[in-house]
Order: sequence, then C-alpha cells, then structure tokens
Amino acid sequence: MKTIIEPFKIKSVEPIRMTTRQQREGILAKAGLNPFLIHADDVLIDLLTDSGTSAMSAQQWAGVMQGDEAYACSRSYYRFEETVKDIMGFEYVIPTHQGRAAERILFSIMCDENSVVPNNTHFDTTRANIEFRGAKAVDVVIDEAHVPSNLHPFKGNVDVDKLRAVIEEYGPQRIPLVMITITNNSGGGQPVSMENIKAVRAVCDEYSLPLYFDACRFAENAYFIKLREEGYADRSVKEIAREMFSYADGCTMSAKKDALVNIGGFLCTNDDVLARQEKELLILTEGFPTYGGLAGRDLEAMAQGLKEILEEDYLQYRLASTRYLGERIAAAGVPIMQPPGGHAIYIDAAAMLPHIPPLQYPGQALTCELYLEGGIRGVEIGSVMFASKDPETGEEVPAPMELVRLAIPRRVYTQSHIDYVIEVIEALHQRRESIRGMRIVEEAPFLRHFSARFEWID
Ligand SMILES: *Cc1c(COP(=O)(O)O)cnc(C)c1O
Repeated sequence: MKTIIEPFKIKSVEPIRMTTRQQREGILAKAGLNPFLIHADDVLIDLLTDSGTSAMSAQQWAGVMQGDEAYACSRSYYRFEETVKDIMGFEYVIPTHQGRAAERILFSIMCDENSVVPNNTHFDTTRANIEFRGAKAVDVVIDEAHVPSNLHPFKGNVDVDKLRAVIEEYGPQRIPLVMITITNNSGGGQPVSMENIKAVRAVCDEYSLPLYFDACRFAENAYFIKLREEGYADRSVKEIAREMFSYADGCTMSAKKDALVNIGGFLCTNDDVLARQEKELLILTEGFPTYGGLAGRDLEAMAQGLKEILEEDYLQYRLASTRYLGERIAAAGVPIMQPPGGHAIYIDAAAMLPHIPPLQYPGQALTCELYLEGGIRGVEIGSVMFASKDPETGEEVPAPMELVRLAIPRRVYTQSHIDYVIEVIEALHQRRESIRGMRIVEEAPFLRHFSARFEWID
C-alpha cells in the first residue's frame, strides 16, 4: 500500500501561511541568508528540527490539566519518575529544562580540562558542553557512517577498535565516561545495534569506565533493532528499550524528541555520589530536584509521552513516513544519506552540488534554496555547523560531510505535506547547477550556525 495511515485523527489545527517567491526573497535576505533567523510564521513546512515540535495527544493535554504544581515532591514528579524507571531502569531520575541542561550538569561534574569523552558522534550541544569545560570530545563512529550511500543497517554503531585506541592513547584515567548517541543524530539519525551496545559495554567493563547514552531517540532506535537485528522481531519495543538501557550506567535525555513534548529533559544515573552532586548543581541552576526547571504539567506530559512513544503503530508510521520522503527523492536522483534514518532525511549536498566547494557551504546554499523555492525550512549539517580550525594555521577545515537535514516533527505533517516537499526538492534537483556557493559575513565563537549571516558568491 502506498498510503501511510497516520495512526491518529486531528482534533486541533494550526493554519500555515503561503508566501510568494518574491516575499520569500525579501524574508531570507532580512534573515542574513540564515533560515534559523526566519520568523516561523513565514515558513510553510518547517523541517528545521524534530525537537520540541511534536504535536501532543489529547491524553497529554489532559495530563497538563492534572499537573501538580507543588514546589517540592509533587505528584507529577513521582508519576514521571516511575515512568522513566519503568522504561530505563535507572536509580536516579533528575528532571532538567532540556537535554543540554542535563549535559551541562553531567559534564560539569564528570569532566575537567584533561578529560576526553568518546561518543559515536557528539551532537552539537554535547560537543560544545564538553569543550566549554575545556575537555575533548572525540567521535568514534564506524567508517561506514561517513559514506552516505553505504547501506549498513546500523550506521550509528561505535567502532570498537577506534574506541579502544582512544582509551589507550589518552589512558583510561582521562576518560570519565563513554557515550553512545541513540539514534546517532549528527550521523544521519542512524541506529545503534544491541550487539554494538553490548560490545561497547564490554570495553567499558574492561577499563572500568561508565557508559552513558544520549538517549533522545531511544524509541526509534529500539524499533530499528526490532526491524533489523536478528532475534528481536518478536520482542516488544519496550522490552528492547529496557535491554538497551540495562547496559548503561545513566543517560542524558532531551524530552523534546522521543518524549513527545515541547520542552523538557532529564538526566539519569545509577551512581549515588554522582546523583547527589548533580542535584546540588541542579538546585543552583535549574531548580529543586523534583521539578528541575519544569512545571508539574510538563512532567505529566513527559510521562504520558514516554508511554505513547513506545506504541508500535506509532513507531511503524513514524519510520515509514520518514522512509517515504527519503525513498521518493532518492528515486528522483537526489543523493541522500542511506538508509533513511528515524527522524530525518539528510540530503548529501556535497554530492548534489559538486560545483560548490565545502568552504562555500553547499549545505547552507541548498537550505536557502529550499526556502526560496517552496517555503520549506531545513538545516545545514556540514561545515557551517561543524568546520574546525587548524590549530597551527587557524584556517577553517571543512566538516567530513555536507548535509541538509529535513527533520520530521512528530505527528505534525500529513502525507500530502510530505508529497509537496518531495515536489519542491525534485524541482531544485533539476536546476541544481544554477545554485551558487556562500560566504560567512558574521559569526559567533560558539555554535555559530544559529546566528551567522551569509552572502551569495557571484
Ligand atoms: C536535541 C539533542 C540534544 C540536546 O537537547 P536539547 O533539548 O535541544 O537541549 C542532545 N543530543 C542529541 C542527540 C539531540 O538530538
């Protein structure tokens, strides 16, 4: 069957606004050719991120009304804690206002200037929080992850030999923790296999290192394991998730992803000393440990969202609708990161626009053209986001890949919205040789992609 049935009906709607090409040219110019700076009202289909953009269910909204706003020890906290423990099994559950707050607290306590933190691929906020601490963030993903056309079923896997080499190079005493990002967002939303998680656990045990998950998309990862890994087809997604978490000592979580809410996050650990330190820091910057920068109603919505995310009709629809976008544009000749990931499709801008060199930002150029052509907002994940500076010459070194991410908000757009996106991308692909490169005219020292301004190169 070609039609994807969204496993929900729509009770509340939000209008989206059409614009003309001429209007969009003015809007984009005003935003310094950086789609991050475009007013959301001027975007027709917003695929900037799947973060915090989910549609909540009637049950979640009902939970919002039931939120207990007691400052300390609210009923909503205990419901939230119980749900997280039921799925993830960790001893301590510490709410934060979003994922990066959990990261900042974890790394502030575990890292110092000498620390080195390996991860399959650090997400941008994860890397920035580690580097802000003066520590070093190292990516140890398998080589297949860097080849967009490679069809490896678990392209998010950690390269265990690379991990071992990093531990040997710096010495285990400099590695406060090992991380795995599930699914691997910056690497294309690619899953990590259970076998790989177990192998990383074994290496951590060998060197007595704690293992933490960046667990933002744990449910999508668990469903990929069910679909692709031998021995898991008949297991429930919840059982698979539980098994995944059983190999970890804790996690950071942005609830804006697989907890189906618009704001929230948390930090888990089994280590009581660490939990105490984390709560002390939490009180300083986020709030009392039973609300951590959130309202009671947010905790209710998270608890309900964490249950809904494990529903298999939902996950089946979620992965099928993402795959649909990827397969359709790939069939039209658009090079994409294969195979399609869970939350997003990544166009390989370097392959689509080979006439634009990496440091003229082909991904940023394509992102701008998507907006001009069809009012669609995606995001560059390439050298604007991830270029580094050569420590000797100070020259910019391009990122390993030039991607444009089209992230799909959860339960927000229907198949016809996605069909429109496909048509716009096909039109751009046909006139790809007319797309020009860009240069940066203004940038910030950290996370520059959020605020940089650009101009077209003639
Ligand atoms: C979104 C995200 C984060 C950061 O979470 P925020 O809620 O945006 O602060 C960290 N890691 C990964 C993999 C993410 O996708």
